[in-house]
Amino acid sequence: MELREGTPRYEAYYAAHPSRKAADDAARAAKGPYAGDEPRRRIVDATFGLLEQMRPLARGEPSGERMDISPDTARTELEALAKGYGAVMFGTAVLGEACFYGIRGRGEEYGREATVIGRTGVVFAVRMAPAEIAAAPEPRAAAEVVNGYARVALVGLVLARCIRGWGWNASCTMDGRADVVLPVAARYAGLGSIGRSGILLTEEFGPCLRLGAVVTDLPLARTPRSAGTEARLCSTCSLCAKACPAGAIDGGTASSGRFKPVNDDACFAKWKEFGTDCGLCIASCPLSRVGRVSGSGVVGP
Ligand code: SF4
Ligand code: SF4
Repeated sequence: MELREGTPRYEAYYAAHPSRKAADDAARAAKGPYAGDEPRRRIVDATFGLLEQMRPLARGEPSGERMDISPDTARTELEALAKGYGAVMFGTAVLGEACFYGIRGRGEEYGREATVIGRTGVVFAVRMAPAEIAAAPEPRAAAEVVNGYARVALVGLVLARCIRGWGWNASCTMDGRADVVLPVAARYAGLGSIGRSGILLTEEFGPCLRLGAVVTDLPLARTPRSAGTEARLCSTCSLCAKACPAGAIDGGTASSGRFKPVNDDACFAKWKEFGTDCGLCIASCPLSRVGRVSGSGVVGP
């Protein structure tokens, strides 16, 4: 939690949202999930500390003369680079308005209007270990999530640096520094579709991924959009809704092809209660563990 008692931002936030203070105070007073597991607590703190130090690298000026590189070549090179650094999925797209945040939500830029440096999105994902995520909401699962934040940030920072080295603008979305709404950008970039739980479902890895993105003005060949077959399973499955301890995921039928949006406030309140990310919706999804979806259900393992 970034809000520090006695600061102007703390006062302004709770003046605007008085109903949130009691739950936030309880979360601040809670011992957290790592009480009694000091080594793991320090590992997680170390990773978040590293991410904080990496954040200023997310943006920067292009270096050198703008290179003339074909959209196909640029895409091929970036995909190879991302996969070399551990990405298991990669896609590109011209991002629509729905992909971008309008206002900055964290850090020193809190409350400021977001600027968009380009419309080309490079979206990628690293795998989270299903065996660790299956332990959600235990600390093991939360530690794997944090590990994913760090690995996907490294991929994004390298890609952004490379694009800047080619003389184009590039900004990396990473933990605590987001330009884009990742699941929406990932859908644009052809990685998968958004199902009942509001997170990206992919054919190969289900939702058991950590997403990252780079926004740039460099023209890139596009990835065809996913046909959305992953989310078809959601019409006959509601395991995530049943598993959600916050009741944040609706278990009903879709209307006009869309499920009711996830109740983000209820979800976040549960995170605060647990003292960490929850992840039960990812752990409970059959697509997290099996490889493919058929028209009528899950095939595999
Ligand atoms: S993270 Fe947990 S609380 Fe939030 S939607 Fe998923 S299961 Fe529900
Ligand atoms: S658990 Fe079932 S309903 Fe929920 S996202 Fe996964 S496939 Fe869809």
